[in-house]
Amino acid sequence: MSTATEAARGIFIRVEVSEPRCVGIAACGKCLPACPVNIFVARGDRVGVQEEDECILCELCLQACQPYEAIQIVKLYEP
Ligand code: SF4
Ligand code: SF4
Repeated sequence: MSTATEAARGIFIRVEVSEPRCVGIAACGKCLPACPVNIFVARGDRVGVQEEDECILCELCLQACQPYEAIQIVKLYEP
């Protein structure tokens, strides 16, 4: 989905999980309980994201994902 399309739908934040950097749910999985609005979901052993527009930019997932740094919170534009 393009950035322009997401902005048109009112989504201001995109949460990205890097597949090469993420070690998987079985080996880690710390982002799932860390997020207060349940952005992260298990898709098999991989981490998926849902309802990214609910993200409150608390950055708890970024802390939970140390030292892997697999998660990026991307602001599509400033409100
Ligand atoms: S915290 Fe990071 S490395 Fe761990 S499962 Fe989540 S995205 Fe993957
Ligand atoms: S910044 Fe906070 S609300 Fe947003 S995805 Fe990470 S843990 Fe969830």
